[in-house]
Amino acid sequence: MNFERSISAFARAKNVIPGGVNSSVRAFKAVGGTPIFMKSGSGATMCDIDGHEYIDYVLSWGPLILGHAHPAVVKAIAAAAARGSSFGTPTEAESELAELICAMVPSVERVRFTSSGTEATMNAVRLARGYTRRDKIVKFAGCYHGAADAFLISAGSSALTLGVPNSPGIPKNVAADTIVVPYNDASALERTFREYGAQIAGVIIEPYVGNMGLVLPRPGYLERVRELCTSYKVVLIFDEVMTGFRVARGGVQERLNIMPDLTTLGKVIGGGLPVGAFGGRAEIMDYLTPDGPVFHAGTLSGNPLAMAAGIATLKIVRDDVTLYDRLEVLTKLLTDGLREVFTKHDVPHQTAYAGSMFGYFFAPEPVSDLESAMKSDVALYAKYFHAMLDRGVYLAPSQFEAGFVSSAHTTRDIERTLAAADDALAEVGAAVS
Ligand code: PMP
Repeated sequence: MNFERSISAFARAKNVIPGGVNSSVRAFKAVGGTPIFMKSGSGATMCDIDGHEYIDYVLSWGPLILGHAHPAVVKAIAAAAARGSSFGTPTEAESELAELICAMVPSVERVRFTSSGTEATMNAVRLARGYTRRDKIVKFAGCYHGAADAFLISAGSSALTLGVPNSPGIPKNVAADTIVVPYNDASALERTFREYGAQIAGVIIEPYVGNMGLVLPRPGYLERVRELCTSYKVVLIFDEVMTGFRVARGGVQERLNIMPDLTTLGKVIGGGLPVGAFGGRAEIMDYLTPDGPVFHAGTLSGNPLAMAAGIATLKIVRDDVTLYDRLEVLTKLLTDGLREVFTKHDVPHQTAYAGSMFGYFFAPEPVSDLESAMKSDVALYAKYFHAMLDRGVYLAPSQFEAGFVSSAHTTRDIERTLAAADDALAEVGAAVS
């Protein structure tokens, strides 16, 4: 395929934007080659500036559960823009989106909006610290909670892709307050609590991890995390920025009926516009300023355009009663089909899906944590990624990211994707030993 325009657009960007991108994973470092510059999207597909069309399984890294440019979302954003883009005052739209979230996410009684998932997790952690008057937080290796200092320690997603889990610029004393334990290992968490329990403000966890590929919890693991937090009076934060309204309306907490104290949200709740949120039990949330002592603010928090896109999206999600069943059927079809194709081509693989999230590792042994995920064949993934791109399928440009299906995807899209995977692996098969 000819990517001439993307190549020159990237060269232009690199002159004025470090690395040519505004979010590191977009640079294709993990798979090589030039990032593809997109110009439009509609439903399940997007088009690049060289005129190629792709079935999209990245969906802006998760927000677009209804696909690109859903007419109801476009209409809501246009109408909100015509009324004025921002006022810096409260608007009724903020309450409307907050009500939708509180009605659908089981543990959330009150919610505050931010402009990104990173801000949501930063504020949730500050709130946990202010509420407990303790300093330490626990996170899990391979979980990603955004680009803030406290989380960039053994982090997943682009931090993994770039191979710099500990970024320079993070002060030692900030890092010292973040304790990292392996995911899916209850006894490691028990040991940590025995040693540091009285100093730990909060545990932050992706209940289904989508930032080292997709890794699901072992049966009983999250229940044990909940029990330990309760007995040590530690605030349990479910980071559902990716899983919220994605694996079910009410996220993982609804699927497993495990209630965190605080929840962070983003992605789907903004319908493709910049929104994050943190919410939870009223007793904890009411510690926030102006009524409580823990500070939170943001010039564009609760921005009217973002609220409009979120409301339009969540109303569809609320009212379409078969949406999540349909999404899961399609995602299962894709995952089962990929497993068959990988088997046919003798590619060692592990697959997983939950709701409309899916993942696969080119690894021979089951993957349950960061250590096992890292045994994947990333060189093979890079070849496979480019072979799929050439066949009109846009996948995450890294082995360690989850994929997403939208309500705009059809059985035909899945069939085309599976045919492309079969063909792609026939081409790169020579690389498979
Ligand atoms: N938490 C999780 C679980 C995420 O997946 C992400 C983003 N991928 C974030 C937090 C950070 O969100 P944002 O990129 O909007 O800051």
